[in-house]
Amino acid sequence: MVLIEDYTYQPKILVIDDEERIRRGCSRILTKENCLVDVAENGEIGLKMIGEKFYDIVLIDLMMPGIGGMEVLAKVREQHPDSVGIVITGFATLEHSIEAMKKGAFDFIPKPFTPDQLRVVVSKAVRMTRTLQDIATEKTRLKTIVNYLAGGVLVTDKRKNIVLYNPALVRMLGYEGDSLDDQPLSALTTNERLAGIIDGILELNPGEFKVLSAEIMPREGEKGQSDQLYLRAQAVPFQNRSGEILGSVAILDDITHLKKLDEMKSAFVSMVSHEIRSPLSTILTQIHVLTDGLAGKVSPKQADILGKISRKVQGLVELSNELLNLSRIEAGLILQDKEQVQLMDILENLVGFMQTKAEKKNISLNIKKANLPLINADVKSMETVFDNLITNAITYTPEGGKVTVTGAVKGNFLEIKVSDTGYGIASDELPRVFERFYRVQTDKTRHIIGTGLGLPIVKSIVEAHNGTVRVESEEGAGSTFYVRLPMR
Ligand code: ADP
Repeated sequence: MVLIEDYTYQPKILVIDDEERIRRGCSRILTKENCLVDVAENGEIGLKMIGEKFYDIVLIDLMMPGIGGMEVLAKVREQHPDSVGIVITGFATLEHSIEAMKKGAFDFIPKPFTPDQLRVVVSKAVRMTRTLQDIATEKTRLKTIVNYLAGGVLVTDKRKNIVLYNPALVRMLGYEGDSLDDQPLSALTTNERLAGIIDGILELNPGEFKVLSAEIMPREGEKGQSDQLYLRAQAVPFQNRSGEILGSVAILDDITHLKKLDEMKSAFVSMVSHEIRSPLSTILTQIHVLTDGLAGKVSPKQADILGKISRKVQGLVELSNELLNLSRIEAGLILQDKEQVQLMDILENLVGFMQTKAEKKNISLNIKKANLPLINADVKSMETVFDNLITNAITYTPEGGKVTVTGAVKGNFLEIKVSDTGYGIASDELPRVFERFYRVQTDKTRHIIGTGLGLPIVKSIVEAHNGTVRVESEEGAGSTFYVRLPMR
């Protein structure tokens, strides 16, 4: 029998027994099996040796004069939890050996034993030590990776106690206290949003997986704090094999830089569109003065040219309005008021308003009425979202087509579908339609005037409501836009 298959591995074994015959026998058998064996003739010497050196396996005689085997075993467990203890015991002390197992001994060998019995027990113990070593190596590796990550890492167990964290996290949250191992989350931070997403993860049902995110400002409310820090926290569950949630892993990223850029960009867009809007209104008024003949008679040719100018200027006004809208939405101002709303009412109203537009193109615009639960949303924003989607559906559908609006509950979300039988979008263009200023140019749609800002606005609003928007489409066969909004 080969005790250890890997010959580069030499387990260190200590045999503590007052019987010389046993010490010599064990040493001879195990040395042949490529183990490094030391011996001790009593508990005192054994403990001294354990204090000086780490042994993978310690064979301990239970009945020894002086310090007994049980006491030695307890000390081994205390000093080296990764050492594996095996007790050697006479027949008369079987009860003791059971007690020893309860106290953490890995196995026991009753005296007298054959070389093979010893090999079987030790080889089992060697496999155990190797597993323990693999786990220890894995732990060290994980700790090293986590410690050197630039992002903050925070792992909690089911009771929200901290089981793993890294220096980046401590720095980001400005924590200056003692070690956080096994401390409750509240010892690290009182930030409600962070605690909120962790709670959300820990409340998931077995097998359920979700990524919850929140923006947190650790220095919020601090006096004299001019430099705000913005962090994005994302939390996910970790589960055992049967899907039971064991705890949460949260990753924190510093997004201050992005946030500042975004604010600057929004401020710029807002400034530009204001600067453009007022001169454009003046131009429009002046054109009206001309077309109304208030500055002299206008020939039909001149009126035609003025009409074209007026339409182009009107297009620019619309563009600046949408730009302004977008920057306002992105600055988050429009989302300050959220209330319980019945989306079906909003949709029915919109569809009612848009009938004339649809009829002009001989398009049948329908809504499938349904009893939907209330959601927390900003009414104006919701009107903007579905106004954009329904207008697009009518715009990008040729005469005689159909536009249908439906709403249904999908899990924890409310899903609104706006589908049309129109021109559709080619698959390579699909991922880009939510980009700013992106417009699909085909022979059929080239004549349609637009800004390419409608869908980005839709996306910004929906995401600010923690929802998602996506599109399915086939060129020539129509498109369906799906808006999902969380119900809680
Ligand atoms: P705009 O309509 O002002 O061009 P949007 O951002 O609303 O801007 O839409 C971007 C592009 O996506 C449009 O130019 C159009 O090509 C395409 N699109 C949007 N909705 C539809 C639809 N229902 N059917 C086909 N194409 C669409």
